[in-house]
Amino acid sequence: MRIAILSRNAKLYSTQRLKEAGEQRGHTVDIIDTMHCYMDITSSRPSVRYKGEPLPTYDAVIPRIGSSVTFYGTSVVRQFEMMGTFSINESVAISRSRDKLRSLQLLSRKGIGLPRTGFANHPDRIDDLIKNVGGAPVVIKLLEGTQGIGVVLAETQKTAEAIIEAFMGLNANILVQEYIKEAGGADIRCFVVGGKVVAAMKRQANEGEFRSNLHRGGTASLVRLSPAERKTAINAAKTMGLNMSGVDILRSNNGPVVMEVNSSPGLEGIEKATGKDVAAMIIEFIEANAQPHKNKTVGK
Ligand code: ADP
Ligand code: GLU
Repeated sequence: MRIAILSRNAKLYSTQRLKEAGEQRGHTVDIIDTMHCYMDITSSRPSVRYKGEPLPTYDAVIPRIGSSVTFYGTSVVRQFEMMGTFSINESVAISRSRDKLRSLQLLSRKGIGLPRTGFANHPDRIDDLIKNVGGAPVVIKLLEGTQGIGVVLAETQKTAEAIIEAFMGLNANILVQEYIKEAGGADIRCFVVGGKVVAAMKRQANEGEFRSNLHRGGTASLVRLSPAERKTAINAAKTMGLNMSGVDILRSNNGPVVMEVNSSPGLEGIEKATGKDVAAMIIEFIEANAQPHKNKTVGK
């Protein structure tokens, strides 16, 4: 097969590993810089141009779209879909999962466990917003944050009000969430491919920190999932319509709760923590599923 990895950086671990795994399994794999693709979107014969030439017809693309380039990146993926190329994650599913509020609304509709969450832009009754998710301590999140930046733990009602007021002053959309203390500064990343959890790791926050992001100094280790956790991760991925995703779960007293579903989950942490060849499993999924015009939505 001929496979394209859409990535802004050919040197990234995930990009390299996917290329290597694809080539090991006998495929031709090109790394294409998403942001350098351009296209005539009105042509009746859709194509993508790159460095002055039309790109060949690929059997499959693997989008690795960073959150800062979601808008342009998903339109490039959509163009490939219009050409009949199979995308492991469809453009609409990527856009859907990038919208945190929409994602939580969809997950909630499917009855998937979530931390009690409120969202707001300019509430008149901040005290009520906090009370509505169970009162302090609460976690306050900037909607546009990634890698744990813009995620704050407010221990008391007063601190929570002050932080929310500060964010309101910046005209930011915010999310106020029940603090899952019993998670003990740990979360679980489930790597889901084709409706199966192919690898899972526990990330533990540094001493004195509640955010377990590896970028914030968290450490990863192997974890055994309970059947309920496995089911939650699979349902969350399915709800988002993602064939490949990283589902982040907290262990709460009420069972597993989903924090987020990531459409371009990194491979480095999970492969190193579990010793599994996740890249090869992604390529195997593509081998079994990539057929022309197989994508369901084609950007609808
Ligand atoms: P980001 O998307 O920026 O990584 P997250 O929402 O995943 O932000 O939060 C970062 C980290 O903070 C999580 O990995 C988790 O360890 C911790 N965390 C987030 N929300 C909660 C919560 N409601 N209760 C307890 N810990 C949380
Ligand atoms: N087709 C729309 C979309 O994916 C609606 C699906 C939804 O929001 O559930 O983006």
